[in-house]
Amino acid sequence: MNFKVAIIGAGPAGIMAAIQASQSGASVVLIDKNLGKKILLSGNGRCNLTHSGLTPFEFSQAYGKNGSFLISALTEFGPEQFLKYLNNLGLKTQSQEDGRVFPKSNKASDVLDILIDQLVKNKVKIINQLVKEIKKDKNKIKSLILENGEEIVADSFILATGGKSFPSAGATGEGLIWAKDLGHTIINPRPSLVPLKTKETWPTQLQGIGFDDVEIILMENNKKIAHQRGEIVFTHFGISGPAVLNISRDIINLPAQIVLDFYPNQSFDDLSGAIEKDFSSNGKKSAKNILVRIMPERLAETIFENIGCDVLQKPEGLSHECKHNLVKFLKSVVLTITETLGFEASMATNGGVDLKEIDSKTMQSKIIPNLFLAGEIMDLSGKTGGYNLQMCWTTGYLAGKSAARN
Ligand SMILES: Cc1cc2nc3c(=O)[nH]c(=O)nc-3n(C[C@H](O)[C@H](O)[C@H](O)COP(=O)(O)OP(=O)(O)OC[C@H]3O[C@@H](n4cnc5c(N)ncnc54)[C@H](O)[C@@H]3O)c2cc1C
Repeated sequence: MNFKVAIIGAGPAGIMAAIQASQSGASVVLIDKNLGKKILLSGNGRCNLTHSGLTPFEFSQAYGKNGSFLISALTEFGPEQFLKYLNNLGLKTQSQEDGRVFPKSNKASDVLDILIDQLVKNKVKIINQLVKEIKKDKNKIKSLILENGEEIVADSFILATGGKSFPSAGATGEGLIWAKDLGHTIINPRPSLVPLKTKETWPTQLQGIGFDDVEIILMENNKKIAHQRGEIVFTHFGISGPAVLNISRDIINLPAQIVLDFYPNQSFDDLSGAIEKDFSSNGKKSAKNILVRIMPERLAETIFENIGCDVLQKPEGLSHECKHNLVKFLKSVVLTITETLGFEASMATNGGVDLKEIDSKTMQSKIIPNLFLAGEIMDLSGKTGGYNLQMCWTTGYLAGKSAARN
């Protein structure tokens, strides 16, 4: 079978690339066994499509130091253009106060359906198989071999096989091996946006409890590496929630330390004063019954167990040390992160094909002239909030258009 453009991987990046390449007049084949599977999983089935209200420069900051690679691409097809595109196709979207954008129906399947409609309308040939081999001829890709042995010949190829995250949805890292074999440098892939396991067992006692506004500081070898503020959730293995997922992007070496501040708006002294005031005006109650006004009961119990004090004591029976350690826990308790939950549970992959080897305006490989890259296979990953999908829409758009032109 002969095509102008062959695309390996039908995640958001590959699908967008296929639509754009076919709309540009190319004959296109899209090969994957898991068409749009991660779109369906995204945002807990709601699909946090993108993030609104930011300039391309501000948007690019969500990807850390590699974000500058995306600025010109975001200018050409950023959130604004993408949302307009979806709205024109009839998909209504809604932007939350925090900037996250979802389909108005809150159904990820509505997003996928509308994109599949476009694939069909533009006569993209969809092959429900995996690619087994990429064949090279001199410095170019010549063809792809499918599982069933069939050969797909094309002028240009787009590698959109994702990173290594959530392999159950198809991304196994095979594309990274091919990219390396084709001469690309691969920046060591690591799980990103991933829950963290702690050495301490007390977080398990708080399993299921979330805190909306916690400051977390990541330390490695006693050095502050990064900080985040937002929601955290305690789990049966340690910690999760948006702020934890975001800080996981900065973890390089393990074990690492995380310092939690449950009251980031109050200084140590202010919090200490407020608790002391509460204690003295409710002297007849136990510490637990007083503290439940400002924190979940289980947190109060867990803290007192950790600091070796009796939560059922009345304030007058509590030593100065107990009161001091209570505030110290709330303002700066340290957790030791022993492991992440790994690629199986990570929403994105840090690392991937080195951006220095990709043209940021066309997504063309600087090593293989008829190869284009799109999506998470590249060394680009963002924080939570719709940034990862937008990176796929943006790079898929450019890769598709450029491959069709090539
Ligand atoms: C549970 C979950 C929820 C998420 N929610 C959000 C969200 O709400 N908002 C957001 O911005 N981001 C979210 N993300 C991240 C986002 O989904 C990913 O960044 C994005 O899907 C990456 O897209 P991609 O097209 O690069 O790769 P993928 O979506 O991983 O797709 C790659 C495709 O390549 C295919 N493939 C691999 N090898 C082969 C082969 N040999 N032959 C053929 N095909 C192959 C795979 O089957 C797969 O379908 C979430 C991720 C997860 C796991």
